[in-house]
Amino acid sequence: MRCLLTGGAGFIGAHLAAALLDGGDQVSVIDDVSTGSFENVKALQARDGFSIVVDSVFNSSLMEELVAECDIIFHLAAAVGVRLIVESPVRTIETNIKGTEIVLELAAKRKTPVVLFSTSEVYGKSNGTKFIETGDLILGPTSKGRWSYAASKIIDEFLALAYYKERQLPVIIIRLFNTVGPGQTGRYGMVVPRFVGQALAGEPITVHGDGKQTRTLTHVKDAVGAILKLVDHPGAIGEIFNIGGKEEISIESLAFLVKDLLKSNSPVVYIPYEKAYGDGFEDMRKRVPDLSKIQKLIGYSPRHTIEDIILDVAAHERQKNNRSGALP
Ligand code: UDP
Repeated sequence: MRCLLTGGAGFIGAHLAAALLDGGDQVSVIDDVSTGSFENVKALQARDGFSIVVDSVFNSSLMEELVAECDIIFHLAAAVGVRLIVESPVRTIETNIKGTEIVLELAAKRKTPVVLFSTSEVYGKSNGTKFIETGDLILGPTSKGRWSYAASKIIDEFLALAYYKERQLPVIIIRLFNTVGPGQTGRYGMVVPRFVGQALAGEPITVHGDGKQTRTLTHVKDAVGAILKLVDHPGAIGEIFNIGGKEEISIESLAFLVKDLLKSNSPVVYIPYEKAYGDGFEDMRKRVPDLSKIQKLIGYSPRHTIEDIILDVAAHERQKNNRSGALP
């Protein structure tokens, strides 16, 4: 297949690109390298079948050419990370909504299948022990910037499903739950690379709030494996799938686990949300996926444990630090 990856120089895109190339597919990436980076795709650039253009998905004429040359689109280009979302809401909303409109409209002309990358963030403050694809989505007020991310992704999902129903565009929607792995940056707020970076540097490990909020973590390799299987399954078309981990962990326990596993002397400190993200920030107390739908369709079961994830991220960071001569 000739695959077009929007946002393919991002952390998840680069892992997906590598797996597609491994499977003999061709990969063409469009990325504005705003939150993505060349570092992510450095190893891919020498490989046969890989190409990258640095531009925005808002460039419709270029996008038209790229879409004409591909068999499937993986639409990953989006604003990413809670920190960026809180700090740059205009960018978040515009990137997520306009970019997806352009991709879907161009794809629909040729009925090129689109895999839309959505997020567990869309569940917002929904209740329930596990979030299921058919469940209600409950967001906070528009005065709290964080929810703009979920709202914009919800519009993307509506739009993708509308194109599927009205224009027979094959779409698959994926809701990723806290996907983590080697190469992810902590710059935009992501908890694991931040904790690992802090632990390796001997700096305080910064737990937000009381640390009792919980998440499940997904190793990017488990996520990518699932995506490749979904794309090969005709039953995935027109459907939404959670992809996530099974082990629920509080952020406080995660901090201590990182400290223990990496044998770090870093203290664990607690930072109020207002200090981390500014006034009026709201967090999710709990976020756990119901995985029965994807389990049933493709037999998905995550292989990597939380410990594996932490150690993989740490190994990558240590390698990077060694290369740059930084300690430790
Ligand atoms: N978090 C934290 N310390 C950090 C970064 C994040 O305690 O340095 C918390 C964050 O407030 C949230 C959880 O870790 O409760 C997961 O944050 P992340 O940004 O990774 O993903 P989210 O689940 O918020 O999308």
